[in-house]
Amino acid sequence: MDKIVSLCRRRGFVFPSSEIYGGLGSTYDYGHYGVLMKNHIRSRWLRAMVQERDDIVAIDSAVSDPLIDCRTCKLRFRADRLEDAQCGRKPSKRPGEFSECDLTEPRQFNLMFQTQVGAMEDASSTAYLRPETAQGIFINFKNVSQLARRKPPFGIAQIGKSFRNEITPGNFLFRVREFEQMEMEFFVPPDEAEKWYRYWIEQRFNWFVNLGVRESMLRVREHDEDERSHYSTATSDIEYLYPIGWQELEGIANRGDFDLTQHTRASGTKLEFVGQDGERFTPHVIEPAVSIERIFVAMLCDAYDEEVVGERERTVLRLHPLIAPVKAAVLPLIPRDEGITSRARELFEELRKRHTVEYDDSGQIGRRYRRQDEIGTPWAFTADEQTLEDETVTVRDRDSLAQERLPIADVASWLDAALERPWRSPKA
Ligand code: ATP
Repeated sequence: MDKIVSLCRRRGFVFPSSEIYGGLGSTYDYGHYGVLMKNHIRSRWLRAMVQERDDIVAIDSAVSDPLIDCRTCKLRFRADRLEDAQCGRKPSKRPGEFSECDLTEPRQFNLMFQTQVGAMEDASSTAYLRPETAQGIFINFKNVSQLARRKPPFGIAQIGKSFRNEITPGNFLFRVREFEQMEMEFFVPPDEAEKWYRYWIEQRFNWFVNLGVRESMLRVREHDEDERSHYSTATSDIEYLYPIGWQELEGIANRGDFDLTQHTRASGTKLEFVGQDGERFTPHVIEPAVSIERIFVAMLCDAYDEEVVGERERTVLRLHPLIAPVKAAVLPLIPRDEGITSRARELFEELRKRHTVEYDDSGQIGRRYRRQDEIGTPWAFTADEQTLEDETVTVRDRDSLAQERLPIADVASWLDAALERPWRSPKA
């Protein structure tokens, strides 16, 4: 993990936050390459979850959570001050003392960041930053199912920041206090829940494999009964063998009808599916939930490699080309040669319209290749003297180091096709 952290810092993927003020523990800022890589992870998830399917729609809900402390009287109490609080029912008692009191779990509160909404600092203005994006999906169930005219099975997907006041953050980005979650709630007829639960475990596992994560480093672990949340009928983790051991990368839970039932009870709005023929039921929910941070760390760990090539050491990130921050570098072999640089520059201008590419004309060619290897750039196109004679450039492959010549005119379509090709890690 130390090597990954140091590479991330050195090459501007991730910095410790507020570094000039001594750093804010376990908080990180993303630099240029980190942002590009996160964007690729995000867009691949959206593509698999929304763009390539007809049964899932997207949503973006507020970050302050609608959670209520007591589901019966709908008042909100601070879990650490229950002793001083009064329940909303008469005669007044402390929260939890009436048999009807239905308090949400205190663990969530201790984990949540409290903030104030509006100008008044009384209890009614207290809000919490969401510890998961899921609730924003459930409370919009009615809107989406009516407006999008969906019949289960259908899903709602959301990407957004979640906040948890983790007691022991650490291991780089693995456990942080603010992270970006990608969650999808898939609403299904109750008797199909088990089938869809298995389906989503498989889909999500394959998503990682198809984005180049080595299968030998992934496993599915089903939770024991005592490990599961009280409302979940089944939960499986897709685990990755991080440098700290096998750990949860993504969770897939069969949440039953718990969430829709609870929100129906608390809000008074019926959250159920009503068909035209009068059919009605409360859908069950299958939830794949993951953070970009845990994927980011897993993909970097999986990609990191060191090797000696011709007595020279190189560090290389063997990232899937679709995840690599930069897709290709364009390099003029002799930076002082105006003919060569202008051809290279033209190629660069053409490619950058379609992909994130870099132009680099500083330093020896070997050093320029190694800089690109370190950030995981899969291909480098180099213009040299021959380019001026026959309008070709070399393409160098990051993993095999093989070089071949291509007509400049074909480079753009060659790159498009190369990005579409399946890719498996040579480390496997
Ligand atoms: P853990 O047991 O590791 O704390 P969890 O079971 O509480 O995780 P979930 O509530 O299932 O996690 O959250 C869903 C997903 O969100 C996790 O699989 C993980 O990818 C991500 N996640 C949760 N907490 C964090 C965190 N503090 N930092 C980064 N990602 C997180």
